[in-house]
Amino acid sequence: MKVILAESAGFCWGVERAIDIARDFAAQGKRPVYTDGPLIHNSQMMEKIEAEGIREVGDYESSGELEIDESTKSSAVMVVRAHGISPERRKYLKSLGMEFRDATCPDVGFIAGKIHKHASKGYKTILFGDPKHPEVIGLMGYTNDCGYVVKSQKDIDALPPLGDKVCMVSQSTMFTDEFERLGEYLKIKYPNAQVIDTICGATKERQTDVVNLVKQGAQAIVVVGGYHSSNTRKLALLVENHGVPAYHVETADDIDVNALQKYEIVGITAGASTPDFIIESVCNKLGLCRELEK
Ligand code: SF4
Repeated sequence: MKVILAESAGFCWGVERAIDIARDFAAQGKRPVYTDGPLIHNSQMMEKIEAEGIREVGDYESSGELEIDESTKSSAVMVVRAHGISPERRKYLKSLGMEFRDATCPDVGFIAGKIHKHASKGYKTILFGDPKHPEVIGLMGYTNDCGYVVKSQKDIDALPPLGDKVCMVSQSTMFTDEFERLGEYLKIKYPNAQVIDTICGATKERQTDVVNLVKQGAQAIVVVGGYHSSNTRKLALLVENHGVPAYHVETADDIDVNALQKYEIVGITAGASTPDFIIESVCNKLGLCRELEK
């Protein structure tokens, strides 16, 4: 069995940056480092950073009140995740009296900026994404209460009359072809709609690499990443959309090597929140040696 690894497998720059920011504070020691919800959608990496003193408080959606020990507040730092937060959440976190450090991915900040700019000119926002994802919840906070999340043509059909000023953007990790298709569909109803492709470069790169693995002859692709990671799940779906079986695993322990032996060429890819030490162990288990970088 030949094994090939996608070039882009592993952390995207936004996730790496957020982890570095939190780790820099933790490395200084003596001060608690809190994150508003999980810093990264990967339980193995969460365990690792927790051992370094970075503690998740709050909930997945970054919406609940935080209970933080009063005695730690004056010395603690609150780090915002790469997914970003709404302006209201920012105000709330800043009101807690801790040092505030924003690790929102600049690519998410770019989307927020586009929404804010258009909303302040009276545009209604159509956001292509998952309404329950924290990035989408945060971005909706920039729409001046004039935002709608859509996932399908059916959702576009169900939109109320929106007037002439309509702007469409995407959650950073969606499929490019679906966004283009929905953008064209929206324009039938709103010919003057501003459709802005805000899918991030890291997502596009990972999606292109799946296609490249298929072109290189991969008959099955192992997709490594958290079962709750949106971008990892999407990669697995993309693999299947190309008619190739996807094996979504969280760690090397989840791999059934015997089940893969029937394939001559097996590809490996990983989500943007998958640490290198897990990719490394998956590669090793499948007989592909790879230098440990992170
Ligand atoms: S997936 Fe894209 S938007 Fe999200 S953190 Fe990574 S680079 Fe930033």
